Amino acid sequence: MTVNNKFMMNVSAKSANESFARACISAFAAQLDPTLEEVNDIKTAVSEAVTNCIVHAYREKIGKIYITGELLEGNIIRIKIRDTGCGIENVEKAMEPLYTTRADQDRSGMGFTFMEAFMDEVKVTSQVGKGTCVHMSKKIGN
Ligand code: ATP
Ligand code: MG
Repeated sequence: MTVNNKFMMNVSAKSANESFARACISAFAAQLDPTLEEVNDIKTAVSEAVTNCIVHAYREKIGKIYITGELLEGNIIRIKIRDTGCGIENVEKAMEPLYTTRADQDRSGMGFTFMEAFMDEVKVTSQVGKGTCVHMSKKIGN
């Protein structure tokens, strides 16, 4: 599929960068002329993925979050959010609604469920000890 435009950035896995990443993605997505609802969907999905990197991936240190945005032929935005943190042992289970390993921190286990609800496609690849990558895409003007 033809990639018409692309950006890549990385940020420290700090909560201050959650809103920063969200703002960057929405500015990038603006090129596809999305509705307010579509932008909000994308921002919510990105927030959830970035928050997961901050909360779950890096425990002892402040690692990096690698974010890629691509505009594809057909008015599709594709976003990748990757960390080099602890990884996920069972991705299928982690993606189930209400599944969380941090109930102690008031997490509700709904992050992946929201990503799936707000984006057309969500794919997660992960290796324990190596990190996780969330790939998401959404067609604008569906
Ligand atoms: P919520 O998003 O509702 O605050 P949550 O983060 O626990 O709660 P999900 O976002 O659905 O829920 O994630 C489910 C589980 O998957 C997490 O509890 C965590 O165990 C694991 N997980 C998700 N993202 C990562 C990541 N980047 N690195 C390591 N583990 C992750
Ligand atoms: Mg989460």
